[in-house]
Amino acid sequence: MAGIQIKNIVKKYGDGFPAVNDVSIDIADGEFVILVGPSGCGKSTLLRMIVGLEDITSGDMIIGDKRVNDLAPRDRNLAMVFQNYALYPHLTVYENIAFPLRLAGASDSEVDAKVKEASKTLELDEHLQRKPGNLSGGQRQRVAMGRAIVRDADAFLFDEPLSNLDAKLRGQMRSEIARLQKKLGITTVYVTHDQTEAMTLGDRVAVLKRGVLQQLASPRELYENPGNLFVAGFIGSPPMNFLPAEVEGTSVKLPFGTVEIPADKAEKAAGKGLLIAGIRPEAFEDASLVDEARAGGSTFSGKVEFVEWLGSETYAYLPFEAPPEVQKQLEQLEKDLDGDSLRTQLVISLDGASRVREGDQAEIWVDTSKMHLFDPATGENLT
Ligand code: ATP
Repeated sequence: MAGIQIKNIVKKYGDGFPAVNDVSIDIADGEFVILVGPSGCGKSTLLRMIVGLEDITSGDMIIGDKRVNDLAPRDRNLAMVFQNYALYPHLTVYENIAFPLRLAGASDSEVDAKVKEASKTLELDEHLQRKPGNLSGGQRQRVAMGRAIVRDADAFLFDEPLSNLDAKLRGQMRSEIARLQKKLGITTVYVTHDQTEAMTLGDRVAVLKRGVLQQLASPRELYENPGNLFVAGFIGSPPMNFLPAEVEGTSVKLPFGTVEIPADKAEKAAGKGLLIAGIRPEAFEDASLVDEARAGGSTFSGKVEFVEWLGSETYAYLPFEAPPEVQKQLEQLEKDLDGDSLRTQLVISLDGASRVREGDQAEIWVDTSKMHLFDPATGENLT
């Protein structure tokens, strides 16, 4: 096994805009790192440069302690797990796992020992004589991983392995991959455009936008402390709300009224003019359900246009107007995110017990300690 160091890597196709622009990521031995971002952000290109399927324009790719820029893919000792698993349908599970060993000229006894060991780890030992066509999606995935394990690869690389599956199977396979990766402790790089996959699988997540690394952090850190508007909008579902915000002292004027924020936040936002406040849906609550003890928050009144009751929680939608400069910024953000959220409505998640109805002028409580304030010009999170 080995760590992977991506050092100031640049990739230009022809003389166009760099598909990967000066990205550095230090992946520790045994770590699970996710490359995530909307279509075209450069995540597949970066993965393909790690494997050696794409030339590197500049920078250093280091695996273990070896610079591999000029090494052919087969000499990098990495195992790529593809979307369709690339299993041989006419071979048994045993022979599919044995394939790389046979190719390398291993003896029958060596093949047997390694296949048996891998299949035990992967809980495939009862299926060794079956063909891939008779396996579940999860089992096929494990066979593909088995093939990587017997090779003693230094790292696993996944390129959107679950994107063709339905939601239920995707969920199952996701936990399967997470479990196996922990068990095997093998360095893993995984590409996805799905923020849920990124959040649930990775030790750390690298968020990319147009070839540039936006933030590299644990899922929790990304969620709680997004570095900029793009990361804040990309991570979380339903997405973070963005509202025009004018800060004066510890008061913040939002389209629905003025709320009080903690002094440390106010200090960081002082004198910056019109900002964009970012508040996740779950930072709100029906004020009638919030007891006095939940200090630190603030209450405002807003007209509820639409309500969705889901049992344990209720989503309420409150439209608002943003001044043109903020509106423009939010439209650009939505374009960058490749998304379709309507950014001029506040989406809030209330307890399922809430009696808020469509058309109500509702009293809403917000935990302002969870409010972020972004610089509209740079997108930077000031708080
Ligand atoms: P997707 O999720 O759609 O695969 P991605 O984030 O993986 O997107 P890449 O496939 O790495 O992004 O592409 C990054 C940029 O490089 C895109 O603008 C893409 O059009 C461009 N690109 C990718 N491969 C080539 C190529 N072979 N020749 C020219 N441009 C390319």
